[in-house]
Amino acid sequence: MPLMSNVRPHNPSMDSPARKVLVLDLDETLVHARELPLERDEDFRVGPYFVYQRPHLASFIGSVAEDFDLAVWTASGETYAAQVIERIFPVGLLKFVWSSRRCTTARDWTTGHYTTIKNLSKLKKQGYRLENIIAVDDTASKYARSYGNLVTVREFVGDPADAELPLLARYLRSLLHVDNVRSIEKRHWRQQVASEVPAGVA
Ligand SMILES: [Mg+2]
Repeated sequence: MPLMSNVRPHNPSMDSPARKVLVLDLDETLVHARELPLERDEDFRVGPYFVYQRPHLASFIGSVAEDFDLAVWTASGETYAAQVIERIFPVGLLKFVWSSRRCTTARDWTTGHYTTIKNLSKLKKQGYRLENIIAVDDTASKYARSYGNLVTVREFVGDPADAELPLLARYLRSLLHVDNVRSIEKRHWRQQVASEVPAGVA
């Protein structure tokens, strides 16, 4: 399926002042990049990396872009992120792209280890209230300070049969008209959506 044009179709929800933003992770959420190729052809290369897109990526982006503002926040470097984004998102679609530079290093006092955190309160300056921010990431610890905003996805490491994104798109739609996304229990989102799918519909 071709990527949608960067002209967003009219959508009544755009008139709402409280449009929600999806803050998407890149690695192991939307793509998997590795130095050694898998047994199948890569989708594209970035520097030394063979990059594999998560199955259904283009239709996922097309679908969520109709309802949400989209942004990327990756703990990877800026140059790598820019090159991946250029390949997978239509030009001009993302509200912002943040890389490792915007991440915070925090110490876990129980283990003594340092971890990388994506602090969502930094998005206030972009005009988004925490109640309207949904973060999608395969690493829950990145949002250790804002679990209420997080939808954790299964890690993608190249499985061509992976079907997480269509399921995720369906779940995200259910959050569209929620007043405060932080008040919704999201840990069992996958089972919740799976149980709503009529038999025979993939
Ligand atoms: Mg990740």
